Amino acid sequence: MTAVRLVILGRQGSGKGTQAGRLVEAYGPVHISTGDMLRAAVAAGTELGLQAKALMDAGDLVGDDLINSIVAERLVEGDVVERGFLLDGYPRTPDQATALEGFLAEAGTPLDVAVNLDVPVDEVTARMVSRGRADDTEEGIRRRLDLYESETAPLLAWFAEHDLLEVVDGLADESTVFDRLTSVIDGRLRVGDARGTRSGMPVRCAPGA
Ligand code: AMP
Repeated sequence: MTAVRLVILGRQGSGKGTQAGRLVEAYGPVHISTGDMLRAAVAAGTELGLQAKALMDAGDLVGDDLINSIVAERLVEGDVVERGFLLDGYPRTPDQATALEGFLAEAGTPLDVAVNLDVPVDEVTARMVSRGRADDTEEGIRRRLDLYESETAPLLAWFAEHDLLEVVDGLADESTVFDRLTSVIDGRLRVGDARGTRSGMPVRCAPGA
């Protein structure tokens, strides 16, 4: 199997986590969540964790240089080189996207596609309210979604300008959304093959393989 190189974007409550898990099963990449990496560093009390904690607690982004170097180190590890990656939570800014593009160009392994799992704000708000967690007040949810919006709009523009963006309608049941995702991803993998920017046969894992 060849390595796929994907980015997944989506609002909180869009079903991104669930679909990311299914994509990992289907295509075999390493799931790289920068939020998870940072939380692990905080929990382990490493130097990085200490640097990141205050920013994360305040809901601010960690600096581009710091996060870029963490990701760059992860991308050259054996499992990622072999299996490819599904990036989740990174890039978060156009500068991070440019940095990622640079790392991948250096390695000769360009990104296949960034998929934006699109679920309207009203729908994700309703989903989160109905989950009923204590910190999920409607106002708190709105604030987080607004932040996401302002953070992500320039990033979507960046991916679109680089012809790497696919928008998938996430307003359907889980399997339907998954089929939509695989259909745009498979399309991109075929195009990459035809352009010669990929090597080998991009095949999805057979069910149960
Ligand atoms: P997440 O779980 O992706 O929402 O990330 C949790 C927190 O980690 C964010 O609120 C940021 O403080 C930090 N973080 C995660 N990924 C990034 C990134 N790509 N750039 C900057 N900060 C990040």
